[in-house]
Amino acid sequence: MSNESNLKSMSDLVALCKQRGFVFQSSEIYGGLNSCWDMGPYGVELKNNLKARWWKSMTLRQDVVGIDASILMHPTVWKASGHVDGFSDPMVDCKVCKERFRADNIDMTKPCPKCGSKESYTDVRQFNLMFKTQMGAMEDTSSMVYLRPETAQGIFVNFLNVQTTMRKKLPFGIAQIGKAFRNEITPGNFIFRTREFEQMEMQYFVKPGTQKESMEQWKETRWKWHVENGLRAEKIKWAPHGPDSLAHYADAATDIEYEFPMGWGEMEGIHSRTDFDLKQHQEFSGKNMNYVDQVNNEKYLPYVIETSVGADRCLLAILCDAYRLENAGDPDKERSVMKFHPALAPIKTAIMPLSKKSELEEVSNKLFEDVSANYKSEYDVAGSIGKRYRRQDEIGTPYCITVDFDTLNDHAVTIRSRDTMTQERIGIANVQNYLKDKFKF
Ligand code: ATP
Repeated sequence: MSNESNLKSMSDLVALCKQRGFVFQSSEIYGGLNSCWDMGPYGVELKNNLKARWWKSMTLRQDVVGIDASILMHPTVWKASGHVDGFSDPMVDCKVCKERFRADNIDMTKPCPKCGSKESYTDVRQFNLMFKTQMGAMEDTSSMVYLRPETAQGIFVNFLNVQTTMRKKLPFGIAQIGKAFRNEITPGNFIFRTREFEQMEMQYFVKPGTQKESMEQWKETRWKWHVENGLRAEKIKWAPHGPDSLAHYADAATDIEYEFPMGWGEMEGIHSRTDFDLKQHQEFSGKNMNYVDQVNNEKYLPYVIETSVGADRCLLAILCDAYRLENAGDPDKERSVMKFHPALAPIKTAIMPLSKKSELEEVSNKLFEDVSANYKSEYDVAGSIGKRYRRQDEIGTPYCITVDFDTLNDHAVTIRSRDTMTQERIGIANVQNYLKDKFKF
């Protein structure tokens, strides 16, 4: 049985992500930009696979359609949504070292967690988290716009456009994936909390009175989605909002938390938002946002169940969960391996000629051409076969296909599984079917 350990600290993951081309610090050659990260070649594949799975899980349903709204919106949107007045965190500075904290994250009766000073903190101030920018050539207040702090409002303001053009009857949902920006006071923990991030949000519009039932269905659906992505069920949990933490407009809310190396943290929020948003937009825009229920001859503002998951935060959970160090301490057997769900793995197969001999490369090139037409693959001929396996383990490639000298006679290759490390001899003609079966999801 393998002696297997999980990720112990975030710094191990940050190092692996950099070394193996998953995530780089933004503008690294200039010393980096705090809390900004770039997806490397494997990171972007993994993230695209994750987003594609989310998108499919939503929009292959009959009752959900997608949109892609603009990041910049009319400034009144953010007045209506409550973000101009209410989207702020309480902030304090240490008077000695000037470090800035979220007042709700520290005990202000204790010394500064950074410098240990017992001098006092500044007064608590409210700090609005929205980024502002100028639109057009005039730099005055009339040209000020915000970078959206959530994707949801792009959906609410398009509710009637989508409902009427798609001829949707309640209940139905609108899904969207896109960037959001928050000027967080204390970003950190790698890509857990950043100032620029991506959200995958879905707003499900329901008849008032049916929201409880809908919320239960979405809770089940979303939990299942995370488990089907390979997250271990014991590493995720529900964190329902009690009356103290419930947003004023919500009648129920719960988070799905993941156990990150620094502790449990929110990964997704599922919120029952009532008709708050549509009502606000109706009031601020002066446009009637009512849904016309032709069956019952009624008009009303729908209630909304929202599922909101950060693509980057979910990606972080996937990375943490996949990481394994096996046979630690035994230099001959030790390996670190990313046990991604095969659907998420950035590279599905690696084709490896045993040596650079032209006969082997010829067969390998042909195989690579065939396989990579269907599955994102790598061709790797450098170094010992053992080293090449380890490299593919570290980026989570589920299958390595080796072409050796026997291949020239038996027209078969060796397929090695990342997880079990077992090897099977498969005829070249059957490789595509073999992979089709393995990547059936
Ligand atoms: P938190 O309490 O962690 O700040 P939140 O409750 O403000 O999060 P929501 O507004 O519900 O978060 O956003 C929905 C999802 O968007 C979160 O569950 C998280 O996955 C993601 N998210 C929010 N803020 C950030 C951020 N600064 N960086 C990365 N992802 C984020």
